[in-house]
Amino acid sequence: MKPLKSYNPATGDLVGEVPITAPDDIPGIVERSRAAQPAWEALGHDGRARLLMQAAESFLTRADELGRLITLEMGKPLREAIGEAKSLADVKHELEEIQEALAPETFEDGRDRSTVYHDPLGVCAAITPWNFPMAMPAWMVLPALAAGNTVILKPSEETPLCGQAYADVLNEKLPADVLIVVQGADDQGKRLVDSDVDLIAFTGSRETGKHILRAASRDLKRVILELGGKDPMIVLESADLEKAARFAAHNSFRNAGQVCVSTERIFVPEAIADRFEALLVEATASMTQGDGLDEGVKVGPMVNEHQRNHVLSQLEAAVSEGAEVLAGGSGHHDNFVTPTVLTGVTEEMSIATEETFGPVACVTRVESVEEAVQKANATHFGLGAVVFGEDGERTTQVARQLTAGMIGINKAVGGGAGTPWVGARQSGFGFHKSKDGHRQFTQTRVLSKAV
Ligand code: NAD
Repeated sequence: MKPLKSYNPATGDLVGEVPITAPDDIPGIVERSRAAQPAWEALGHDGRARLLMQAAESFLTRADELGRLITLEMGKPLREAIGEAKSLADVKHELEEIQEALAPETFEDGRDRSTVYHDPLGVCAAITPWNFPMAMPAWMVLPALAAGNTVILKPSEETPLCGQAYADVLNEKLPADVLIVVQGADDQGKRLVDSDVDLIAFTGSRETGKHILRAASRDLKRVILELGGKDPMIVLESADLEKAARFAAHNSFRNAGQVCVSTERIFVPEAIADRFEALLVEATASMTQGDGLDEGVKVGPMVNEHQRNHVLSQLEAAVSEGAEVLAGGSGHHDNFVTPTVLTGVTEEMSIATEETFGPVACVTRVESVEEAVQKANATHFGLGAVVFGEDGERTTQVARQLTAGMIGINKAVGGGAGTPWVGARQSGFGFHKSKDGHRQFTQTRVLSKAV
């Protein structure tokens, strides 16, 4: 088969290539993975954790090189890319949390003595997107391996080199076949889903998630789906507007808007809208765009032409349907979409309903907080949401009315250590992190006897 070539979205230059996995080879790869699993499980938590921690140290020592690869392959600014690579070294706490989550628990009720075990499922397929091309694999590979499963990783076809580099670092320490990489696109993904794996852990778009759920239903395979979003932000009249506007710009344009929890819709009461919009435009001006390798760049290119065309078509449609451009809106070139602020965005526009995944901040003015909440919740997505307000009680009250899985107050979504990464509605099925998240990589078994 022809190799899978990877191109730099900022320059169009070839970054490198990897051999594509022939779909017909996938059943044999699953057999190899299954054969390696019992010995991996037999190492016990401590044995597995020791190897995973040793491997993780390399992410720190090689962070500059791995970060550079991330920027070359998908375009994000180098500083953020190095930060992503470094974050992979930080596994100690997570491994401890996994150990705690999976430790057997004993219950006695006077009649029975029962022990609940969390055993590995067997072979786990991890299918990942390109927007955090090393962190997303890590979010699934680490808990799956730590739980005693072997893993077959299929990275995105947009970032095969990053996926390979991530796995190569782990494989310097892991026994053979405990982590195997399958390279390719949807053909390889479909074949993996149809193969004899025990769990499919997927992060990607809602559409692909639906395909996977349908395919997995044939054998009732276990699935974990982390899908797209259309995150709202509500700015209350009590908000610190400068802080809210800075956050809105950062969270709409970070990673060129290619973040599952990007701010995609902003609801602002009329009374403060002029001031908020002016501050948002001001904050947008500092979002320097360019090649992610260049010093000072905050917004890189779209990952590819397809994504650029998708964003620009939503943008053009919104403007033709009456949205007003407050900043950006022109000067797009190659894979670069200029950070753009729109106002007058209405519910009928595709930019208000379908995931954009691009650097566009969309403002909708509202007459009341009730209208903001109703509009924020009018979506089939439910990943994250953010509320800005300085009146603590009222702000919390508004936050509790939002139907997303993760809600941030005066900050980005994502709770502290021990909390899950979870989507509501069509943004996910199952979740990551936390004790409950880690247990999804296992089969729960109850052993009981009479006392
Ligand atoms: P995608 O769905 O196009 O592809 C994701 C992966 O699935 C790729 O590896 C792809 O090759 C594979 N794939 C495609 N079709 C398949 C099929 N039918 N069967 C099996 N595998 C298949 O998504 P993407 O464009 O790579 O990533 C962007 C999406 O990911 C966005 O929607 C974003 O919101 C979402 N995302 C969600 C989270 C989260 O935590 N919820 C995190 C990051 C990204």
